Amino acid sequence: MKKKSMKFGIDIGHNSPPDTGARGIKFEDQLTSDLGNRIIIKLRDLNHQVIECKPQKSRSITDSLQTRCNIANANKVDLYVSIHFNAFNSLANGTEVFAISSTGRQFGQTVLDEITKLGFFRRGLKNGSHLYVLKKTIMPALLVECCFCDARKDMRIYDPEAMANAIVKGLTGKLPGENEPVIYIPDEEDNPNKNVLRLQRALNRMKFTGQDGKLLVEDGIIDTQTKIAVENFQKVTAIQQTGIVTNITWAAINQILSKRILRRNHAGGVAVRYVQYRLGADNDGIYGPQTEELVKGFQQQNSLAVDGIVGSITWTQLIG
Ligand SMILES: [Zn+2]
Repeated sequence: MKKKSMKFGIDIGHNSPPDTGARGIKFEDQLTSDLGNRIIIKLRDLNHQVIECKPQKSRSITDSLQTRCNIANANKVDLYVSIHFNAFNSLANGTEVFAISSTGRQFGQTVLDEITKLGFFRRGLKNGSHLYVLKKTIMPALLVECCFCDARKDMRIYDPEAMANAIVKGLTGKLPGENEPVIYIPDEEDNPNKNVLRLQRALNRMKFTGQDGKLLVEDGIIDTQTKIAVENFQKVTAIQQTGIVTNITWAAINQILSKRILRRNHAGGVAVRYVQYRLGADNDGIYGPQTEELVKGFQQQNSLAVDGIVGSITWTQLIG
């Protein structure tokens, strides 16, 4: 059922006025935009193709929904995945996934399994034959109501990175960086190791230093300074600060070094956190107006075109 490389149509729910999402403790528009962008980055990291289906603006809600379907249909995506958050009475909580076709249901099942492992109540896999985007797309499709944005119970445990990982795992059976080497960093070690060397090079490129503020010595030997730089990196990218380089840390390193284009309202997650750290913005992982202003300032200082988009030239200026 799962092909090696798939073409996904990712539909970030709403975010296309007048098609706007539910308002709960958090806004559905912000949640779906942040989560959807993380999913897109992760799928591409796993060498899948992604077509983004959300239109910028719409004439009406029906227009918004039909355009999403048109984009998916025209691009002949293999699987259409619509990302939403529920809202009801602030007490209802949990995850539900809608699908119609049997393939859609199979993917829906694995996505639901992964999300409920995070602790969300399993509302179930449901028949989505009343849902516009499931009816009007011509390929297997599913719509994920990740959890309830108006339920305190759900919002307390909601973590966008964990949710993105769960959905990507449900769709592909894999997580980015899963096959990367694990490096356990003891305090002292005198055995040069090429993975450690790669790690030190990456940290230097991204300008994560040890305690002394100097670049790390690239010798493949784990030392206190390398460990401190790893912990700094983990702090910035919102990974648990263990000083141990597992697949999660490698995935974050690879995501930054892959230099994906970042622009306002179209990016979230690790790479945005990293840019925010470099530019001194609030480290929230959301590419909002403040981050955009700082990117423009950085571009101006470095005599680059001032467009507020972190493209390849701006990336080169940041990490070489
Ligand atoms: Zn919605």
